[in-house]
Amino acid sequence: MAICPFAEWHPITGPSGAYSGGPFKIVHHTTEGSTAQGAFGQFLEDRSDPHFTVDATTIYQHVDTDQWSRSLRNAPGGVETNKDKAIQIEMVGFAGRPKAKDTLRNVAKLCRWIEAMHGVPQDWPNGLPKPPVNGNDPGGHNRNAATWDTKGGHYGHCHVPENAHWDPAYTADEVAFLMRVNPEAGVLEGVDEFPEIPETDPDLEGAVSTMPDHSKVD
Ligand SMILES: [Zn+2]
Repeated sequence: MAICPFAEWHPITGPSGAYSGGPFKIVHHTTEGSTAQGAFGQFLEDRSDPHFTVDATTIYQHVDTDQWSRSLRNAPGGVETNKDKAIQIEMVGFAGRPKAKDTLRNVAKLCRWIEAMHGVPQDWPNGLPKPPVNGNDPGGHNRNAATWDTKGGHYGHCHVPENAHWDPAYTADEVAFLMRVNPEAGVLEGVDEFPEIPETDPDLEGAVSTMPDHSKVD
């Protein structure tokens, strides 16, 4: 059993089963919507719940991190995706929009817990995510299957083999903030670094996705 002590337990489609391989990795997604509640409805409809959904105020856990979750496409043959010890986080927001510190801070807090609990290194084996170009898919993503299969670390949905979605599309600064912040240890709490990242996204509600099929995994 691996339940995050500061997450709100919120099952959606229920337990799954044991992983088929490893090593442990963290997969970053964006929900492509403005609210956690909206995402939960999509996950239920499409049977595509991740381990965690994170917004500016709350970290929700849907699946025990010792079992696989469901937000990645997995083609017949090839490598396993969801079952390859991929711990998946859906950040409420949009690949095509800049991220805000309030939500990134919660994702960072969760990442530090996953890294410690499951021995995930602070590396990005298939490279950093690519930021959006005018709100759209920048293309050219590295989805190297051998890396995925053999190296633990952080991946975006944009780095997963057999998948076409391009989230989370973090900028280099958003990644730097995400990897450095450690709210449990007080690192960067209240520190005015990364001034180019807004504290909050006042236009999140009402924003529209440029990847509206994100919750569909088939
Ligand atoms: Zn995704």
